[in-house]
Amino acid sequence: MKIAIFSDIHANLEALQAVLAFLKDASIDRYICLGDIVGYGASPNECTEEVRKLNCPVVIGNHDYVGVGMGDISYFNMTAKTAILWTRNQLKAENADFLKALPFTHKENSFLAVHASPQSPEKWEYVITMDSALNNMNHFSEQICFIGHSHIPFFLELDPEGNGELNRNNPLEIKDGYRYLINVGSVGQPRDNNPKSAFVIYDTDEKMVTLKRLAYDVGKAQEKIIEAGLPVQLAQRLQSGY
Ligand code: ZN
Repeated sequence: MKIAIFSDIHANLEALQAVLAFLKDASIDRYICLGDIVGYGASPNECTEEVRKLNCPVVIGNHDYVGVGMGDISYFNMTAKTAILWTRNQLKAENADFLKALPFTHKENSFLAVHASPQSPEKWEYVITMDSALNNMNHFSEQICFIGHSHIPFFLELDPEGNGELNRNNPLEIKDGYRYLINVGSVGQPRDNNPKSAFVIYDTDEKMVTLKRLAYDVGKAQEKIIEAGLPVQLAQRLQSGY
């Protein structure tokens, strides 16, 4: 079975549509969304509706959480706060209700899916250092945990003796006895200096995880952000992926 796992759409409809069109042609069996459907971009309703149509497991992200008025926004920077308040005004009731009802985690036999970290899904920890990645390996029992949140993709592999290192092979082979923490990157606001949308395909029969990068119409997404009156930096950063 081929499972597409994607995260951090951030109301970027142009990126989401490009990714979903690609996946449709890639004969994907199932989809899993790791949250942050909204926040930053200009199309929160359209993106939420696209994800709802997939009828797939979705976990909540921190921008979904605050976008529907849950939790505290004081820890966000000014740009993010502006976008959050704008998003709250835009979201239709039915889309807000959908986001509000999302769980923090989704478990299957071989993997766990969570937006930020398996250690404390509701605390929105950024897993960006080796120390935090290794520590998080102790906080799930499945073979693989898929995360998003930092918008920076990586494959962490733990060998049967418990030694962990980044595996830079793509596709990544899922080996018996080994365990993995996989950041799937961001569809709508990549931050690894590559503006292309990121997502993974997990082939459970071949035991392979492939990180894909896909170009989309960045110019159109930027225009919509500016037309909406959102902070111009949110449009600029899409250009080079930071
Ligand atoms: Zn995000």
